[in-house]
Parts: sequence; C-alpha cells; structure tokens
Amino acid sequence: MSWPVIRKSAAERAGANLEDYDAEAAAFDWAAARAELSGLPGGGLNIAHEALDRHVAAGGGDRTALRWIGRDDTVRDLSYAELTEQANRFASLLRSLDVKPGDRVYAVLGRIPELYVAALGTLKAGAVFTPLFSAFGPEPLQARMEIGEANVLVTTEALYHRKVEAWRDAIPSLRHLLLAGCPGAAPARCIDLEAALATADPVFETVATRPEDMALLHFTSGTTGRPKGAVHVHEAVVAHHVTGRTALDLRPGDIYWCTADPGWVTGTSYGIIAPLTNGVTLVVDEAEFDAERWRRILGEQKVTVWYTAPTAVRMLMKAWDSDPRPYDLPALRFMASVGEPLNPEAVLWGVEAFGRPFHDNWWQTETGGIMIANFASMDIKPGSMGRPLPGVTAGIVERAADGSVREALEPMALGELALRPDWPSILRGYLHEEERFRKCFASGWYLTGDLAMRDADGYYWFVGRADDVIKSAGHLIGPFEVESVLMEHPAVAEAAVIGLPDPIAGETVKAYVALRGGLEAGEPLRRDILGHARKRLGPAVAPRDIAFRQNLPKTRSGKLMRRLLKARELGLPEGDLSTLESEER
Ligand code: AMP
Repeated sequence: MSWPVIRKSAAERAGANLEDYDAEAAAFDWAAARAELSGLPGGGLNIAHEALDRHVAAGGGDRTALRWIGRDDTVRDLSYAELTEQANRFASLLRSLDVKPGDRVYAVLGRIPELYVAALGTLKAGAVFTPLFSAFGPEPLQARMEIGEANVLVTTEALYHRKVEAWRDAIPSLRHLLLAGCPGAAPARCIDLEAALATADPVFETVATRPEDMALLHFTSGTTGRPKGAVHVHEAVVAHHVTGRTALDLRPGDIYWCTADPGWVTGTSYGIIAPLTNGVTLVVDEAEFDAERWRRILGEQKVTVWYTAPTAVRMLMKAWDSDPRPYDLPALRFMASVGEPLNPEAVLWGVEAFGRPFHDNWWQTETGGIMIANFASMDIKPGSMGRPLPGVTAGIVERAADGSVREALEPMALGELALRPDWPSILRGYLHEEERFRKCFASGWYLTGDLAMRDADGYYWFVGRADDVIKSAGHLIGPFEVESVLMEHPAVAEAAVIGLPDPIAGETVKAYVALRGGLEAGEPLRRDILGHARKRLGPAVAPRDIAFRQNLPKTRSGKLMRRLLKARELGLPEGDLSTLESEER
C-alpha cells in the first residue's frame, strides 16, 4: 500500500529553522557549526559550558532550564542560573571526593532533578558521565559498571538496596555511592547526595577539557559478547547543538518535552544536551507513560516541541481507539519520534489527532546524534526516516566477500545503511574493544548494522537489523546477554533468544530453551526460569515467553541460528540451511 505524501506549506517551510534542505545541505560546514558555540574562555570545549555557563554569561540565567513535574504533580522550576549552581555544587563535591577528570560517574536514576545536576556537574568536572536504565536488573547494571570501571555511582536509596548493594564490592574501581532520596541518614558507606550538595561549593570553574576528551560512555548491545561501551567526546556537542536546531527545530524560548528514558542515549543527547545548548525550557515528567497524563502535560505546559518514540505513539493510538477526542494543543509546533520504525499509520494518526504529523528520525548510540530526519520544512513520505542531516553523508552499501563494501546507487536497492565517518559525535571507540570497533568500518564508511533503502528523492527507508539484536519498546537488547542469564539457571543447558513482532512494543523477547538431561519441561519450570530472568535482568530485558526445545539449531561451527528459530516461529521461508548441523535438518 502506498501512503499519501504529507506536503508542507510555504508558510511551514519559511517558518522552519532549516528552511531549504537542499541549499543548506550543499552549503553546510562543520567548522561553521562549531562557531555557533563559544568554547571555553581559555580554550578547549566542554559540553556543560555550552549547555549552561554560556547562557548565564550572556545574561540568560533567569530563563527556565528545567521544569520538573513529580509523580504527584509537584512542579519544580530550575532556571539556567540555578541549574548551573547545582551542577557546580555537584562538580565541587566530586572534586572533594578526589574524583579526577576522566574518572567515570554512573547514574542509575529516574527522571528526577538530580539526574540533570549529576550529568552536567560530572561534565563540568571533566569526568565521564554514563547513564544506565533504572529498569535494568542487577546483572546488566553490574556488567556495565565492570566494563566501564565505574568510580562513582549516583542512584536512589531504594534502587541501591534493590539492585546494587549485594555486589558493590565486586567492582573494585567503585569508590563512592551518592544516593538521592535518603530521608534521615544514608546507608553505610554511602553519601547522602542532598546533604552533600547543600554544603558543597556553589562556585566551580568548568574544567578546560579538550574537544577529544572523553565525555560520555553509553552502553549498547550487539549480537555476541558483552555490552559495548560507546565512547563519546566533548566535540559531540557540536552535533547535538546543530541537530537540535535543524532536526528538532529547537529555538530559544521553546518548551520542549523529550520523553526518552534517561538510561538511553536519547535521554542525554536530546534529553539534556541539545535542548540546553539551544536555550530551551526542558519539561521533565517523573511518571511513567499514561495517555491522559500526557495529554494534560502537553496542554498545561504549552509544549512547543515534543520528541517521543514509536511505542509511546502506538500506546496513545490505542488509548485513542476508545477515546477519540482530538488534542487541542495550539502551542505545539513540532512532533518527532525516534528509536524504532514509525509505522505510516502512526504518522497519519498524528495529523488526525494533533493536526500535525510525527516526524520520524533515525540514529543510534554510536552516532551520538540524529543522522537522518524528516525536517519541519520537508514533505513527509510516511514510513520513511527522511533524509541525511546537512553535514552527514549517508549511503546504502553492499558487502563483498573480501570485506570491502560498494555503494549501491540504484534507487530502492536493499543494503546496509552506512555513513561517512566525519561528523563530530561519532563514537571514538568501544571501550577496551578495538577489534569490534574496527569492524564497524570498511572502505571509508561507518557501517550501521541496519538494512535500508534509498529512493530516487533521497529519502531513506528502514528495512530491519542486519544482525540478531532485538528492539523492544525502544530498548536495544543483545540476545547473548539474555541467553547467558538463562543459562545460569540450573535446569537450562542451552538458550537462544529472538525478537517477535508486537503491535505496540515493536518486538518482544522470546527464548527457546533446551533443558539439561532428564529434566521434564512443564509449566512450573517455565515459570521458574522466567522468574529467574526477570529478577536478574529486569522486566525491560527479560523474555516474555519461553518455549522448550530438544535441541537448538546451530551452524556446523556451533553458532546459534536464531534466524531459523524466527523463520519457523513466523512461518517464513527458512533460507539457506547449508551450514546447519545435520541432526537439525
Ligand atoms: P540505540 O543505539 O539503542 O538507540 O538503537 C539504535 C537502533 O534503533 C538503530 O540501529 C535502528 O535499528 C533502530 N532505530 C533507531 N531509530 C529508528 C528509526 N527511526 N526507524 C527504525 N529503526 C530505528
């Protein structure tokens, strides 16, 4: 089925930050983009300086930086000057704890003001900020803190007791635990963050980091091996800032709501950095998704730019089925979505319900910022991710047997989405994993691991992942991490994990398990294994369902053939089986 193109009017084009895509893409220059930022007074570049200090120095300190809405609807505003002062206190606290530039500060926090203070304070201190999903269970948290050699963890007292306390001593690098929300005293060997900030020095000179100094460490998942720590540097702020302006149409004075989880890269790049460098007011809602609450927040806060995700859009559509009241949001100017394929129905539902379409855009942890987007001024082809950002060269490539790649220039050729690796926020490495990093590049391209097509007008169309990684409700889930935890269960001999299509979450995780000899498959054991996985991995990552199998399909070299399990589950062609072990045929 082909969907109607959503045309933009002349007024919409003229009113957009990026007015003329072709002209601006042709003229774009990253050095000029860099000049939009001030840099540190004595030289160097620091993300927090661009997000905070720069505005305060220019007299913008009174503007609201953060409007926080608590679960109980309490509202707390922090101006740019106040957020700067809090971040200074956090940076002073780190210094008093002997945390040095380059040290790693992890945050496992929900959407509370301390998250923003910790992120910006860490960057001010020249340390490296790493957010993790608070929905992770103990296993994924510990693995990521081990790989990244965490020195400081900022979390809440409740999360600490539930998820960290039992193994904190297993991470030798971990020196300090700073806990938010400890009424009374902090637990043993932890620091009460609120009390410590109250006495910390509110004056702190932002550390003069260099553009290539590490600033952020974001974890992502691959098909094999442990999670990967993608290293990002301060220079990334140039891309955050520019893409915020062009792809999200942000401008000073906007009321901007990004609904991303703080543990996901979007929660940092577009939940903290890009909006603040662009001088907007960030709306932050502590609560989880609720269709009625979201409707209310959009209206009451007069949100002008809203950045959300397909799973949330689909949940809103579901709520709409039983309550189709149009949204009355005269202030709302631009709606964007990221993280998973946005179905054309959802784009058009935006027009029906909000009077404006959702603008899909594409990027990934490794790219640090938006790479392909539907811009405010550009016609939308529903189902397409849009066109490459000015300054970004994208291509569709095919891999040859010798490892080189060749660009496929014919329209709608299917291949891997690739990017020329020359934008400021590209990852600088996977921490301690040189070989995995090297494999991302071939013939002058960065290979994204996604399959896509480009049409004759230069619009990109997402087709699927080139690997077995699963995307569920926006979470990228590495099957290996889930399989490893399943295999810790005493009854499990082998496990394979795949993603199955789901109308709301995009995909859900399904596991196939072969039991140890002599064990009887049955409901009690199924429930026990599911419970084990939920406890160790957390509900966002654990399988929804488990099926028992005598054997799991493997190649002759012993690699799980997850694709075959998936094809069988979905009744699809099984493809080339020449490498399948003979007893599995
Ligand atoms: P993450 O690194 O967790 O942000 O996940 C990045 C991956 O999410 C990409 O490589 C894609 O597979 C998927 N993704 C992100 N944005 C989109 C989009 N607009 N359409 C389809 N898939 C997307």
